Amino acid sequence: MPLYEYKCENCQGVFSELRSMSEREAPITCPDCGGEGKIIFSTFAQGGQKGPAEGFCPMPGTGNGPCAKPT
Ligand SMILES: [Zn+2]
Repeated sequence: MPLYEYKCENCQGVFSELRSMSEREAPITCPDCGGEGKIIFSTFAQGGQKGPAEGFCPMPGTGNGPCAKPT
């Protein structure tokens, strides 16, 4: 399941959460103050990665391991 980062609009705290793709845009409760957090970053939204099925790769195209181009 992808890991997303959220920022709390109340305390400005940043926290990570594992959520399904369909839930990533939904507001999330801040673990610190209970305020509303909004998504700020997704590890799978970068570099044209379509989803977790292709393997975790924060920097596509580096040519190593799961980051190598699929054949
Ligand atoms: Zn908060």
